[in-house]
Amino acid sequence: MRVDYHTHTDLCKHADGHLEDYIRHAVSIGLQQIGCSDHAPMPAGFDDEHRMNDEQFGQEYKPDLFALKERYRGTIDVKAGIEADFYPGTEAWTNSFLTATDFDYVIGSVHFLGEWGFDNPVFVHKYDEQDIDVVYQQYYDHIKRSAQAGLFDILGHCDLVKKFGHRPAGDLTAVLREVMSVVKQSGMAVEINTSGLRKPVHEVYPGDAILSLVKELEIPVTIGSDAHTPADVGRDFETAKALAGRYAGGRVSIYTRRERSEVRL
Ligand code: ZN
Ligand code: FE
Ligand code: FE
Ligand code: ZN
Repeated sequence: MRVDYHTHTDLCKHADGHLEDYIRHAVSIGLQQIGCSDHAPMPAGFDDEHRMNDEQFGQEYKPDLFALKERYRGTIDVKAGIEADFYPGTEAWTNSFLTATDFDYVIGSVHFLGEWGFDNPVFVHKYDEQDIDVVYQQYYDHIKRSAQAGLFDILGHCDLVKKFGHRPAGDLTAVLREVMSVVKQSGMAVEINTSGLRKPVHEVYPGDAILSLVKELEIPVTIGSDAHTPADVGRDFETAKALAGRYAGGRVSIYTRRERSEVRL
């Protein structure tokens, strides 16, 4: 089966194309399932310049998504997803937001350490003002807490902190093992996200260190391109498929109304 469980739309203000453009591209390249997972709103208008707001969610994203799901039934299975942020202190708000819609799945992602949007190229200089080892510790602490939060189905791009190529000096082996054992207990899947190949780091998220733990702990995986333009839907699927073969027995997780099942690639 060919799937892509991580795509965006122009509602997030840093992507091109409407929902249907992504779905059409998915049809054109022969995907059986396309997961739509644009950035969810955050409380109090936080980071509104990089995401839809509540009104756009309620009046555009949600109705359009469920209408397109119906319209494309029999052509492609459109999955109603969302990429929600794990941001400490917003868990209750996020929980009520996520449970108010019949999503097929929710990707939980860490994009902020405090106020710092550490994956935003505009703020990349902040890496130079900090101890990278401390940044990594804070990042993986957030990842662990995102898994403990019980809010999400899929752990999004779980070593995103490497995006611009910054690497810790210290050994993270023990930290990663602890984090991934918490992920295993959570029942979440780890996303194999190919967008890192298109970023300065030129690597899939996550890298081999985490994927080896995925294999050892038998953590399920999903596949996503993190497309921010319709032509990137399904991008590097073969690379992701090979990794799923090596680290997850060739099985990927798919979701319907937040119930997980597995298919062979
Ligand atoms: Zn984005
Ligand atoms: Fe993300
Ligand atoms: Fe994304
Ligand atoms: Zn993402």
